[in-house]
Amino acid sequence: MSLSTQTLKSQLQALSSKSVSSVELVQEQITRAKALNADNNAFISFNADGAIEQAKQADQARADGSTQPLLGAPIAHKDLFCTQGQVTTCGSKILQNFVAPYNATVVENLTQAGAISIGKTNMDEFAMGSSNENSAFGAVKNPWDLDRVPGGSSGGSAAAVAAGMVAAATATDTGGSIRQPAAFTGTSGIKPTYGRCSRYGMIAYASSLDQAGPIAQTAEDLAIMLGAMASHDPKDSTSATEGTEDFTRDLGRSVEGLRIGLPRQFFTEQLDDAVASTTHQALAELEKRGAVLVDIDLANIDLSLPAYYVIAPAEASANLSRFDGVRFGYRCENPKDLNDLYERSRSEGFGEEVKRRILVGTYALSASFFDAYYVKAQQIRRLIKNDFVAAFEQVDLIAGPTTPTPAFKLGEKTDDPSDMYLQDVYTISANLAGIPGLSIPAGQVAGMPVGLQLLGNYFDEARMLGVAHQFQQITDWHSRRPEVSL
Ligand code: GLN
Repeated sequence: MSLSTQTLKSQLQALSSKSVSSVELVQEQITRAKALNADNNAFISFNADGAIEQAKQADQARADGSTQPLLGAPIAHKDLFCTQGQVTTCGSKILQNFVAPYNATVVENLTQAGAISIGKTNMDEFAMGSSNENSAFGAVKNPWDLDRVPGGSSGGSAAAVAAGMVAAATATDTGGSIRQPAAFTGTSGIKPTYGRCSRYGMIAYASSLDQAGPIAQTAEDLAIMLGAMASHDPKDSTSATEGTEDFTRDLGRSVEGLRIGLPRQFFTEQLDDAVASTTHQALAELEKRGAVLVDIDLANIDLSLPAYYVIAPAEASANLSRFDGVRFGYRCENPKDLNDLYERSRSEGFGEEVKRRILVGTYALSASFFDAYYVKAQQIRRLIKNDFVAAFEQVDLIAGPTTPTPAFKLGEKTDDPSDMYLQDVYTISANLAGIPGLSIPAGQVAGMPVGLQLLGNYFDEARMLGVAHQFQQITDWHSRRPEVSL
């Protein structure tokens, strides 16, 4: 098996034993990624020359004795992270020519750790979506079945990891955008506690919900990536003082005696039967190893989706007001006057879903409806948070499905936004509460991957990754890869 399709851990071992050079590995990875991109469209842009140049420096640094944890390892960044000197589009026409003047902190941290970005991955425009069909650069195809979606909004990062175009990639999750695409592509992904990774240089969608995290093949690789990504950052006022830690700490820890809560509200008729039985089988594996499964209630969880679809658009409508055709980004041709400039730059630059969210958000924040919608949604948000706080007094972790169904067909839900929004019923509550959540491959239904979701208490990522790793010691779903033709 070629090294380019292996885990980040194996690649790092090969690099450190000098059985491969960073130049060789980066070159192999770029060649493979470019070839596959013609079919799956996981990348918006490549940084081939820059990556090779950095790989040469990494090889030199290794020869000089550097021990940076990710030295010379090829990765990719979701095209929402600002990368200095490179086009950063956020999946939008409005930013199609935007060259970022600085690096996002997450990008900077990974670069400092020695990682090398081979390119920027495709995504739903401004991270709004669950299928990657909202990208101005075309839909991403699921490597398991090119007629199906890879999930969204981090569909490019997930497809890239699934197809072995890169061993690990950055992603972001506002309502499920790391976990849902991970579930759809048979990859692993973690959304850390809100504030764990700096949002500086991440193009904002809904600032109180947005959080960066990695997608990779295994929980162990997630732990390695997250260790490099997380930091306390004075440039982000919502950055947590906890900063980073050794997320590999609990990888060897047994699940004996671990109390896992199963929310009754997650296992209802909304959940596809085959996904439900896959989830139960996965949980039975953990039970066999001594975990204790406990039914719990998250009484207000059904209100997550409506609360999210008020709060997220409200924040988006404010965040996206900066795209006015004046300071940066797309500007319409021959504006008649200032209003025409604003109006046409925004109408022509933004896609349909983004406009829908701006309209909904502006409405929810308007003087006559603010109390009825926005304030109400914030109150619900607090109730949901309280439910989790109470649940974590009884259990160590919460588990359930990541998504109600496996990956659906391209075009299947594009005409029905509310059906599309239902994709996130199991993931959104973690963003509203700010708790960490991850998804790992837990089985297959009709040849398509299914994810198991674990939700943890604030800053408990190391324990969650430990449990996910234990699951990956006793199952091999994470090591199954789609057959792709080069
Ligand atoms: N699918 C959700 C939305 O469209 C979540 C997206 C995300 O997490 N960025 O808003």
